[in-house]
Amino acid sequence: MNITNNITFFRNKLLNTGCRLVAVSKTQPVEKLKEAYDAGQRIFGENKVQELVAKQSELPSDIEWHMIGHLQTNKVKQLVPFVSLIHSVDSFKVLEEINKQAKKNNRIVNCLLQVYIAKEETKFGFDEAELMDLLQSGKIASLNSIKVCGLMGMATFTENKDQVRTEFKSLKTLFTRLAQLNLPPNMEMKEISMGMSQDYDIAVEEGSTLVRIGTSIFGSR
Ligand SMILES: *Cc1c(COP(=O)(O)O)cnc(C)c1O
Repeated sequence: MNITNNITFFRNKLLNTGCRLVAVSKTQPVEKLKEAYDAGQRIFGENKVQELVAKQSELPSDIEWHMIGHLQTNKVKQLVPFVSLIHSVDSFKVLEEINKQAKKNNRIVNCLLQVYIAKEETKFGFDEAELMDLLQSGKIASLNSIKVCGLMGMATFTENKDQVRTEFKSLKTLFTRLAQLNLPPNMEMKEISMGMSQDYDIAVEEGSTLVRIGTSIFGSR
């Protein structure tokens, strides 16, 4: 794997698409992240709080750190002082905790709501009905130290490209529907985080604004 070449490849690939690259560096050593950084990459995604915090302390301060993995309430506190975007908010409880910690840190923390779009049992996220209920409850409006910037989803891990496309389309449709609602000031449908090494090309075609790429940049884990 030549990390520099891979970063250049994706930068060219995403040129003029309106989609940005999140380099998913989980399990990779800091030297590899440094190599991607030197190639110009500034957005890194991690799925474990401990690892994200440790890497953040060793790398340059102009990196945007994105949390992309399942987030437990008791770990929120460690992230909130510096995290740029949390992709993986999957409950109102976590959102409330992010808001509480953000207030203490005098920050507004950007979040995406993770939506369950796959046909697999194990994936986290709101389903469409839960998300609509949450919005209609009006409960998000009072959380004034967070900003909900959009949605995140993961397609089924399958070779079936039609299925993957259908799942991404369903996320885009939901996104468009939400964007048409009368959303509170701390919500804006701006980002759709979808697409990984296996399926990013389909995701970009279907309107992704953030692809999360690990293996195709850093090699296998
Ligand atoms: C690991 C991970 C990725 C990146 O997966 P690759 O197949 O290595 O590109 C993207 N999103 C999430 C949520 C992940 O956990």
